[in-house]
Amino acid sequence: MAAYTPMMQQYLKVKAEYQDAFLFFRLGDFYEMFFDDAIKASQELEITLTSREGGMEERIPMCGVPYHSAANYIEQLIEKGYKVAICEQTEDPKQAKGVVRREVVQLITPGTVMEGRGLSDKENNYLASVSAFTDGTYGFAYNDLSTGESRVTLLAGGFDEVLNELAVLGAKEVVISSSFDGELQKKMRERDVLALSFEDNTQVEQHFAELAKGLNQDKMLETAARLINYLYRTQKRSLDHLQPVVTYQIHQYMKIDYYSKRNLELTETIRSKGKKGSLLWLLDETMTAMGGRTLKHWIDRPLIDREEIERRHALVETFINGYFERQELREKLKEVYDLERLAGRVAFGNVNARDLVQLKRSLMQIPFLQEVMGRFGTVETRQLADKLDPCEDVTDLLDRAIVENPPLSLKDGNIIQDGYHEQLDQYRDASRNGKTWIAQLERQEREKTGIKSLKIGYNRVFGYYIEVTRANLHLLQEGQYERKQTLTNAERYITPDLKEKESLILQAEEKCGELEYELFTEIRETIKEYIPRLQALAKTVSELDVLQCFAEVSENRHYVKPVFSNERRIVIKEGRHPVVEKVLNTQEYVPNDCFMNSEREVLLITGPNMSGKSTYMRQIALTAILAQIGCYVPASEAVLPVFDQVFTRIGAADDLISGQSTFMVEMLEARNAIQNATQSSLILFDEIGRGTSTYDGMALAQAIIEYIHDRIGAKTLFSTHYHELTVLEEELDNLKNVHVSAIEHNGKVVFLHKIKEGPADKSYGIHVAQLADLPPELIKRANEILMALEQPSYQAVPVAAAVMASEPSAVAVEETVPVHDTKETAQLSFFDEEPKETKKHEPSAKEKRVLDQIKHLDILDLTPLQAINTLYEIQKKLKN
Ligand code: ADP
Ligand code: MG
Repeated sequence: MAAYTPMMQQYLKVKAEYQDAFLFFRLGDFYEMFFDDAIKASQELEITLTSREGGMEERIPMCGVPYHSAANYIEQLIEKGYKVAICEQTEDPKQAKGVVRREVVQLITPGTVMEGRGLSDKENNYLASVSAFTDGTYGFAYNDLSTGESRVTLLAGGFDEVLNELAVLGAKEVVISSSFDGELQKKMRERDVLALSFEDNTQVEQHFAELAKGLNQDKMLETAARLINYLYRTQKRSLDHLQPVVTYQIHQYMKIDYYSKRNLELTETIRSKGKKGSLLWLLDETMTAMGGRTLKHWIDRPLIDREEIERRHALVETFINGYFERQELREKLKEVYDLERLAGRVAFGNVNARDLVQLKRSLMQIPFLQEVMGRFGTVETRQLADKLDPCEDVTDLLDRAIVENPPLSLKDGNIIQDGYHEQLDQYRDASRNGKTWIAQLERQEREKTGIKSLKIGYNRVFGYYIEVTRANLHLLQEGQYERKQTLTNAERYITPDLKEKESLILQAEEKCGELEYELFTEIRETIKEYIPRLQALAKTVSELDVLQCFAEVSENRHYVKPVFSNERRIVIKEGRHPVVEKVLNTQEYVPNDCFMNSEREVLLITGPNMSGKSTYMRQIALTAILAQIGCYVPASEAVLPVFDQVFTRIGAADDLISGQSTFMVEMLEARNAIQNATQSSLILFDEIGRGTSTYDGMALAQAIIEYIHDRIGAKTLFSTHYHELTVLEEELDNLKNVHVSAIEHNGKVVFLHKIKEGPADKSYGIHVAQLADLPPELIKRANEILMALEQPSYQAVPVAAAVMASEPSAVAVEETVPVHDTKETAQLSFFDEEPKETKKHEPSAKEKRVLDQIKHLDILDLTPLQAINTLYEIQKKLKN
């Protein structure tokens, strides 16, 4: 009976353990893939699919990538969300009896990338783990393998909170138990999670005990253990850079849900999903990669602890005041490499000599940083300066041991400094002496033979040789030279002397290489012991970097230090939208004030399309967020409460970008805000209710406003194009109308972008159409239609709790009040189905038939041409 060859049997055995990964099976200089892996990889990587004998009748599909360029292919697969198991030969093929032993040495997954493209400088790469508990709570933990940080929390607010955390972190991969609910798995995939992985071991293993010391809560422990066990299982090596798992609570931070973050474009824009145009982009004046990542953390999690916020503000102030010191600080920071990731690479074992030189250069900046920080001279700066740990021993060691410009490869020598190690120096002498001797020999041979072009060369196959061109061959003495290689117009020879020296040189070089590698490993192990100190240093440098960045931006863009109010007051003078202001020219941006207090809890914002309503609302939210991450704010004066949460919702009609946004989503998010907001929250509702028919939308908008006003009392900005809602000011004590002004100039509308008290006097939609150069006849016609329509048909319903109820009958038509006191209002309501005139006139039988026909027309199914034809028919019938 046919059977697979022993090697294929070995392959299948390994593959059985790594079903969900591509198995890169090392064969000589290649990683080979077989069977389905090969077929799929050949498609994904666009490499040739071949096949080989495997002992069975059918050939086995196969494809492979060269060992030396594998990294690139691995990255491509990881980016697509796949996993790659690296299976190496783990014994010397020369010594192997039978098939060479092979083992998987690492499972690379989207959440555990340690190098290459998958790891962008200014962004973390997170792996998360989620545990679901029977009481409805979720354990949530995450780790960045490249930096070694891990955090864990318990979420009691349902699975939405889990999704929210995943989105905030941009987690690439989530580790769960194999019995995790399928529906929830699907939801995670919908949130850009590239891969789901399973880990059922939730025991605290030995290697993890130390990291878990601070965790005394079972659920968190279980979740963290799942995460760490997965890391060890996939990475299969010591992970000495993992930092103790820290607990956190989402309530320690200002809560901003996923949609609000997106709407406010905090770290990426809605349209391009890129950083450019986001708040992060505006703020990023950090000088280090670590600082860049920390800035993103801070934006993702604004503080609510006033004391800590004010500590940051104080530091920013100091940095602003010391302009020259700050510039020096920036210069020095520029020289500091990614300490956090360097430390990770040291532990992981993939650090090279160049990395270590970078580490040294970075550490050498620390005393200078300390010195500059000292010169700022405040308590806070001194505290930070003291926390900067220069780790002199590391600098010293590296300075003595590693040359300034080492090669990338660790196996080719030239890494270790002369004078660092005696034995190494001796080997080097031997090799250098040998080379001098060869140079001398070359000279001697030229003299002896009189051949000027004679030269001594070296290649890997023949070693050292003497080369003589064909034209000069007759000058050589017979007998001494042994011919080794013939070229087109030269011969290569060796002599016994040359061979002897050669073996001395090569031996010395080989020993050098081995010894250098050994020494390098030793040095790396020594540095491993400093990892916790390096990580602490990285943290302090990052913080410093972000704070100087705040100072830089605040000064350049004329921001002001915000003051916090205990009375939940907002006073913003000459506030600006930070990003729009930067994108526009500063001169073009019209600053606006905002004043809110206990009598002005809700601002109802009206104004024409494109006048600046959305911009104004976002500007208030961004100002609050900037203040609470510790930055100054774009205004000339700012008093703010400390907000616990920010909610923003753009009406589905305006939310052009997400595409999938439906009225249902709009309502779900409105519910989310209404359910969770407190008096200390900030709510932005931008044209909510537009996603449905006018009356529905208006009714809902009003009901939502009343609910927030009466029951929540959160500071709320509500923009609407429903003019009719502005009468609410008379009913709701703490609601005020503001509008964005526009003027008409030569029959065209000019936006002033200026917020003013009171409701807008009219809507300028048609003028905007005019601005957009629609044909004049069309504009004229639209104006006529508008005039006809402006017979008001809906008036805001007086405030009543009944409005909250769902039955429309509660909206009593008789109780409506006029929209504009000055205008005549016709009593026409949307609940009056039949206009009165139609009742007077009884249609004829013919007319009835026509009406019937119209009634049964399926409008949505008609092409414009069919509609015209139908109309023609109808007219003909009536005329006849
Ligand atoms: P609305 O929500 O009222 O339709 P937007 O807030 O979307 O209007 O603003 C429309 C455009 O007007 C923005 O893209 C921006 O370019 C400009 N704009 C808004 N506010 C200002 C301002 N204060 N100063 C200058 N330009 C502004
Ligand atoms: Mg808008």
